[in-house]
Amino acid sequence: MTGQFGEAITTARRARGWTQEQLADRADVVQGPLSRYENDLRQPDDDTLDRIAFALGVTAKFLRNASDTRGAMAVEAHMRRRATAKATVWRRLEARLNMYRIHASTLTEQVTLQSEHYVPRFDPLETRPDDAARLVRMQWRMPVGPVRKLVRWIESAGCLVVSEDFETDRVDGLSQWIGDLPIMMINTSAPTDRLRLTIAHELGHLCLHSCEVTASMEDEANAFAAEFLMPAEMIRSQLRALRLHQLPDLKREWGTSMSALAERAYALNTITASQRTSFYKMMSARGWRTREPVSEELLTERPELAARIADTLISRGLNDDEIANMAGFASSYHNRLFRPSSRGLRVV
Ligand SMILES: [Zn+2]
Repeated sequence: MTGQFGEAITTARRARGWTQEQLADRADVVQGPLSRYENDLRQPDDDTLDRIAFALGVTAKFLRNASDTRGAMAVEAHMRRRATAKATVWRRLEARLNMYRIHASTLTEQVTLQSEHYVPRFDPLETRPDDAARLVRMQWRMPVGPVRKLVRWIESAGCLVVSEDFETDRVDGLSQWIGDLPIMMINTSAPTDRLRLTIAHELGHLCLHSCEVTASMEDEANAFAAEFLMPAEMIRSQLRALRLHQLPDLKREWGTSMSALAERAYALNTITASQRTSFYKMMSARGWRTREPVSEELLTERPELAARIADTLISRGLNDDEIANMAGFASSYHNRLFRPSSRGLRVV
């Protein structure tokens, strides 16, 4: 047997949030050797690798596949997180995104996915974030004004969106490229307006930071998101002489948080710095800084692309287990990504 499985095993284990001891227990291997496998000091035999893979809910082929692409397993992701997010938490989320990425690439090695549009990539040194946002909207032929179905637009460009409850409010989203296939993971525990901003922010990273990593990456992704969801040309007149009582209606119309609208107004010079400060004071006094009103009125979208891919494979005569196997899951029960929608199962 060739190949080094260490990184693949560690990433899969981390994605589950397990210690080495927990995995050793579930795979019926001794922890000492498992630690050596993970550090590539020793290679598991076929039977042991099968047991480890099954315990992790993946196929041995998945682990081999992940280790074939050398150094590509634990790829750093763009992540929208707070400084207070615990390393154990965001590392687990990053491992999960890496797992989804390998599952998707395992599947796309066998089937070609076609999409209506694509996610363009720009050089951030040549294209300003707001210009990039305008170009993407133009390329996708999006109607002017608010973006109604954000997830649908992103998926129409072939970007896989996985929504999960991250069980923390400190991390909002992560994104990555899988060769030519973009993927993002978003936290469903956030309110819709915040989620939408996260999705647009991650799209900004995918468009602007696919190869070039810049010092002002976060600001650039935020500027991209602001222009993508609230195009200056359309929103500026509505933000002139902005008053607090207008914010709920503007939030309903644009699907962005009141603080994002206030920031937008400030960025577009329709309010002054002191007006912005007094907005935040008034919002605090009403308890809106911790929980904004109107969020629950906004439409929550569910990703559909992964389920549609599974549906297509079903229509080609494959069954659930074959689809799971193609994507490197141990069984259809373990398939967390490409679940056919006919059973009413979705990536949730
Ligand atoms: Zn970011």
